[in-house]
Amino acid sequence: MFEARGLMVFYENMLALNNVSLTCGKDRIIGVFGANSAGKSTLMYTLSGIMSDIRTKEEMAGGERITIRGQVIFEGQDISELKPSKRARAGIILCPERRRIFPESTVMENLMIGAYLANSRQTSETLDYVLRIFSPLVRISKRLGGFLSGGEQQMLAIGRALMAQPKLLLLDEPLLGLSPIIQYMLAKSIKEIRDERGTSIIVSEQYARPIMPIIDYGYILENGSAVVDGTNRELMDNPDVKSAYFGS
Ligand code: ATP
Repeated sequence: MFEARGLMVFYENMLALNNVSLTCGKDRIIGVFGANSAGKSTLMYTLSGIMSDIRTKEEMAGGERITIRGQVIFEGQDISELKPSKRARAGIILCPERRRIFPESTVMENLMIGAYLANSRQTSETLDYVLRIFSPLVRISKRLGGFLSGGEQQMLAIGRALMAQPKLLLLDEPLLGLSPIIQYMLAKSIKEIRDERGTSIIVSEQYARPIMPIIDYGYILENGSAVVDGTNRELMDNPDVKSAYFGS
């Protein structure tokens, strides 16, 4: 359903992604694990198409030269040259690192901003769904985005992404900076979204423990290269992965 082949990204001469290939079938949850600076956000930007916008902006500003190579295939089409807005329209929605909530808009307004690609029937159905799985948002629906806790912001960020009717949801470090209880709650919700809506999900994380049990397949990214891949069982049984990502 979704495939990346041989992705390479250079920031000037710095190789940030080195020949990364991955696949995500329909209804699958794929994990991408890696330390700080491993290339997770670069990968998510490349899959969503935002990397080519960043490259264009840098070119216009006379800034650094960004080179992108490789192919992105979605539902049988090569979308490597497709702009991020068109990829979003096709159903590839990125929920970026650090949430990017609009701080001066309310929770409800933030959700409705996500609905720009939805018709009114989809909007009301998805809104009901989001407020059911992320029920703490109901009580704070009129609160400004800037006054939310980290966990509330992340629920809102995923909820807003769902409002855009994703077929493939890209979650970049959704658990960053959250308490263990909230991390496990969110991991459970991510799995529920796949189980209940059939949304395919690629989720990146630095810390694997809460996410590993919910993935079907995962990739370990080191210095821009996918060095190990396997099912969650295979990854959890791999001694190198265990010591690096599970602290044991
Ligand atoms: P983090 O967990 O810190 O977000 P990450 O795995 O998402 O890390 P990236 O943000 O993709 O990693 O960064 C990969 C490498 O590319 C890092 O060495 C980073 O410093 C570098 N990098 C990222 N963005 C740029 C940029 N715009 N210009 C130059 N180098 C960059």
